[in-house]
Amino acid sequence: MADLAAFTTATSFPLKSIATIDPGRVLIVAPHPDDETLGCGGAIALLRSHHYPVQVLVVSDGTMSHPRSRKFPAPILRQLREQETINALRILGVESENVRFLRLPDSLIENHIDLAIVQVRTYLQATVPTTIFLPWRCDPHPDHRATWQLFDRAIESLSFSPRIIEYPIWDWDPEQRGTVATTAKVIGWRLDTAEVGTLKQNAIAQYRSQTTDLINDDPEGFRLTAELLSNFAQPWELFFEEI
Ligand SMILES: [Zn+2]
Repeated sequence: MADLAAFTTATSFPLKSIATIDPGRVLIVAPHPDDETLGCGGAIALLRSHHYPVQVLVVSDGTMSHPRSRKFPAPILRQLREQETINALRILGVESENVRFLRLPDSLIENHIDLAIVQVRTYLQATVPTTIFLPWRCDPHPDHRATWQLFDRAIESLSFSPRIIEYPIWDWDPEQRGTVATTAKVIGWRLDTAEVGTLKQNAIAQYRSQTTDLINDDPEGFRLTAELLSNFAQPWELFFEEI
């Protein structure tokens, strides 16, 4: 299993250039609108600059970030977050026709795996990705783990076997890190994203609902802290792969 202590010394993981990865058709899967940009924004920008086709699938509707806001009730919040995703991905080189929203209920993905599996399988059969970026199977956030499980099960019965690359999000928070373990043999590596660092930060900034006080009428509303965001401002991104 991945050495979670290595999150504090992540620079010990080997650094690869995009040229050494030949991913073919790429699908990026995000449990919430923003995970794709935080965890894989550099990879997406590099892949697009090398003309690899990239599709993005966002699994949940993201409506639990500010559940008590009156100004942004669920349908409005969903629309806002989806628009933020489209804006962020356009900066990274992915046009809106290549972005799909599954709209499962935020925080409850786990309860909807059985229903969503058919939809996901149909999507995968139609798009036939060569490489899929999934959330890290041991991420402390249940929606992230449930998203990995949803795709792990959907992939099982396909006639092709995509390469799976996993990206961590909430393990970067030292208070949540390492609460879930796996017996799978996993290796970590870093992708050199230095040349697209500014693009990635511009894309993250599109998520105003998550990074600013745009929604200011829910005292319990979610906010990506500067501390957490600093982990996604490195000149590389960290990925895991089962071996
Ligand atoms: Zn998330």
